[in-house]
Amino acid sequence: MADNPISQENTLGLQALFGGTFDPIHYGHLRPVQALAEQVGLQKVILLPNHVPPHRPQPEASPSQRLEMVKLAIENHPLFTIDTRELEKNTPSYTIETLKELRQEMGTTQPLAFIIGQDSLLSINTWHGWDEILDNCHLLVCSRPGYAAQFTDPNMQTWLSQHKTTSPELLNRTPHGYIFLGDTPLVNISATDIRQKLSAGDSCRDLIPEAVLHYIRQQGLYQ
Ligand code: ATP
Repeated sequence: MADNPISQENTLGLQALFGGTFDPIHYGHLRPVQALAEQVGLQKVILLPNHVPPHRPQPEASPSQRLEMVKLAIENHPLFTIDTRELEKNTPSYTIETLKELRQEMGTTQPLAFIIGQDSLLSINTWHGWDEILDNCHLLVCSRPGYAAQFTDPNMQTWLSQHKTTSPELLNRTPHGYIFLGDTPLVNISATDIRQKLSAGDSCRDLIPEAVLHYIRQQGLYQ
């Protein structure tokens, strides 16, 4: 029942995943990633909606609503596809576990990348198993307004310098291990902000694809 495009596409070039809660998905997700895809030469970006474990603050939208919004957002965008494996689990899914699972499915030589925003990069050392991430994939980072360009922790800054590359060719040729800082448009949108704005009656027309907004209204979400 899982919709897992990677296992069907593992003979293609660099595969890139983009994980998120997507509560809701918005242009701050889509636009920087589209620019990144052009810079790196990605043929596909696989959106990976997260399962949010019970002990964490819960998304306002249900897993199926979040998935539906992602589907609506990528209609007519051939760059994007969806992997539902984390959503379908009832157990917490740590990114590292998903990456290891994918690595097993794809074998050791397939180039694989995980896309994150600059805010996520700056807190990556709080992720479970973070120091194994680059053993499994590359990290592609989108700029995000309001977040520092550098780590304050010198050890993390050294880690970044040791793994940083500016070469898309290297990312496409090697299976894992590099960090690419994309020169992506700064889009000052967060899902938190959108939920607050919608609840205050703001239309959010420029922040979310029209089909997603329509669905939000129809479902009475974020009121
Ligand atoms: P919330 O406000 O609920 O925390 P969010 O808008 O940050 O949500 P998430 O679904 O948590 O969205 O984010 C998924 C990924 O997208 C993360 O790696 C995050 O860094 C990145 N991201 C989210 N918004 C932006 C943005 N405006 N610019 C760049 N990256 C972003």
